[in-house]
Amino acid sequence: MNIILFGPPGAGKGTQADNISKNFNLHKISTGDLLRIEMERKTDLGKKIKSKMDHGMLVSDDIITNLISKILSAIKSVEGVIFDGYPRNLKQVKILDTLIKEHNRRISCVLSLDADKETLKKRILGRIICTKCGMTFNKNFNPPKEKTHDCGLNYLRLRSDDTEKTINNRIEIYANKTLPILDYYKDQKILHKIDASGEIDKIYDEIRGIITSLET
Ligand code: AMP
Repeated sequence: MNIILFGPPGAGKGTQADNISKNFNLHKISTGDLLRIEMERKTDLGKKIKSKMDHGMLVSDDIITNLISKILSAIKSVEGVIFDGYPRNLKQVKILDTLIKEHNRRISCVLSLDADKETLKKRILGRIICTKCGMTFNKNFNPPKEKTHDCGLNYLRLRSDDTEKTINNRIEIYANKTLPILDYYKDQKILHKIDASGEIDKIYDEIRGIITSLET
């Protein structure tokens, strides 16, 4: 099973992708996480990525395609994948279609999370990530706990793009460039819309129900 998790910044894609990956044994491919790893390396490519990310802009399709192609080639024996934050525009949709066919995979469903702008902003400004394992937490709704988070608390950071200044830009880019691709998946009858404004566990229950119904 190969799933696309879709939604605006702050909708909870990272958190739910971790839940889905763990419970359904799917390999998570988060373009945001991959870009942050490259950024941390402070390579020329990393610096290029940072300049886009910190302004809330999309990174070039060529960089993204390169990352995704490499990963798909490296995980040929892995049965299922969950894409988090990819594809993000129509060009990436077309490229993904080609790559998926080349790797003998098929997109089983697209789960689209959504919430109102105020909720998105609150979540983005409270977000904390673990730079070791990539897990996402929130200081208000889902604080990391030393007992349950194996990496400990030393790797926890705020994201450099989670600022008041970039939020509006990111939400606007989502509305203009990313949201229109939903129609493509709606036409293929694989789109499921989920209200992501509530509690993490309740949202996950709905997601689990959808995925389980596809498995049977
Ligand atoms: P995310 O972790 O998904 O919120 O992504 C953080 C940032 O990484 C975005 O604001 C973009 O700058 C960049 N990014 C992540 N995924 C993509 C993608 N598929 N295409 C272009 N840029 C992306």
